[in-house]
Amino acid sequence: MDLYEHQAKQLFAEHGVPVGRRQLAATPQQARLSAEHLGGRVAIKAQVKTGGRGKAGGVKVASGPADAEDKARQILGMDIKGHTVHTVLVEEATAIAEEYYVSFLLDRANRTFLCIASAEGGVDIEQVAESDPDAVAKIPVNPLTGVDRAKALEIVTAARFPEDVRDASADVLVKLWEVFVGEDATLVEVNPLVKTASGEIVALDGKVTLDDNAAERHPQHAGFADTAAGDALEARAKEKGLNYVKLDGEVGVIGNGAGLVMSTLDVVAYAGEGFNGVKPANFLDIGGGASAEVMANGLDIILGDPAVKSVFVNVFGGITACDAVANGIVQALELLESRGESVDKPLVVRLDGNNAELGRSILTERAHAAVQQVDTMDGAAARAAELAAAR
Ligand code: GDP
Ligand code: MN
Repeated sequence: MDLYEHQAKQLFAEHGVPVGRRQLAATPQQARLSAEHLGGRVAIKAQVKTGGRGKAGGVKVASGPADAEDKARQILGMDIKGHTVHTVLVEEATAIAEEYYVSFLLDRANRTFLCIASAEGGVDIEQVAESDPDAVAKIPVNPLTGVDRAKALEIVTAARFPEDVRDASADVLVKLWEVFVGEDATLVEVNPLVKTASGEIVALDGKVTLDDNAAERHPQHAGFADTAAGDALEARAKEKGLNYVKLDGEVGVIGNGAGLVMSTLDVVAYAGEGFNGVKPANFLDIGGGASAEVMANGLDIILGDPAVKSVFVNVFGGITACDAVANGIVQALELLESRGESVDKPLVVRLDGNNAELGRSILTERAHAAVQQVDTMDGAAARAAELAAAR
C-alpha cells in the first residue's frame, strides 16, 4: 500500500524523524484556519499518490491565511496525472538552504536492502543518476545489521553530503531506517531532505510503501487504507472485484492473467519510448474466465480514465478460448453502448493461443470502428502506443 505524504509524515513523526508542523485540509476554509493555527506562512501540498506534484503546480507557498485559502482553492480538485486532489497538507513553510535525497528500498535483483542517497535532491533523482551518476550513492544495507550511526555516516559521506550536516543527517537516516523496518515498509523515500536556514535537517516530503503481506502485524495501518475519498477509479474497480492499479501513463491495458499483464506493461513502456514516451495507464487483470460482463466492467473503468488515450487488450486464450473472449469483447462494447457510453478511444486487440483464428474472425466480422487487431504482442503494443501519442 502506498501512503499519502501526510500519512508518511505521521509515521516519520512517530519514529522521531524531524518533520514540520502540519494539518490536513479538505476545503479552502480549513486551509485558512490551519494557516492561522500554524502562524502564517505555509506550504500547501496536494495529497496524491504520484510524484512530481511540484512541477504540476500541486505545491505552493502561501504568505498567510488568506493566501492559503486562495492557493488551496487552486490546488483542491486539480488533476495530477489522473489523480484528483481531495485534500491538501498545510505545513509551516520551511526556509530551505539545501536539498538532499535519501531512500531505503528493497533491492530485489540483489536480494538485499539498498540505500540511495545524494546531496543533489529536490529534483528527479532519475535525472541526477543519468546526468551525474557519481552524485548518487547506492549502498547495500545488510538486513541483519541494518543502519546504525556508523553505517549512516558511511552513507552520507558516500553521497557527498556537506561535512557540516553529516552528523545531523546520519541521525535522521538511522530514524528513517527504523521507520523502514519497524513499519515493514518496502520503500521509504525523502525528497527533499532539507537543511533549513537555521541549520536543521528536516524531511520536507515523504513517500512510503508498506508491505501488505505484513499488514497483520500492524493493525493500526488499516486506517491508512483509501476510503471513498480516495482514487475514484480504484474504488470503482474494487467494487467490481477487479484487480486494477492506476498508473501514470496514457495506454490502458487489459489482459487475462497477472503475469501476462505484468509483461504487457513492460512491452508497452518499451514501445512507448518510440512514441513521445507514452506509458501504461494501469494494470488490469481480468483473470482466466473473462466473461462479457467482466470485460465490460474492465473497459468501463479504463475508458472512464481521462488520462487514457488508447487501450491495449492483450489476451492469451487458454481454458477460456479466444472465441469466448472475442464474443466477450463484442458484448462488452454493446453493453457499454447500451448504457450510453460511446466507445471512441481506439482499442487494439491481440488474440493468441487457443482458438485465436476463430476469435479474430469474430472481431473482424463485428467490424467495430474503435477496434483494431494486431496479431503479435510487440506489434499491438507499438500500435497502441502510436495511437496514444497521436491523440
Ligand atoms: P513533489 O514535487 O511531489 O516531490 O513535492 P515536494 O513536497 O517534494 O515539493 C516540491 C518542491 O517544492 C521541493 O523540492 C521544494 O523545493 C519546494 N517546497 C516544498 N515545501 C516547501 C516549503 O515549505 N518552502 C519552500 N521554500 N519550498 C518548498
Ligand atoms: Mn518530493
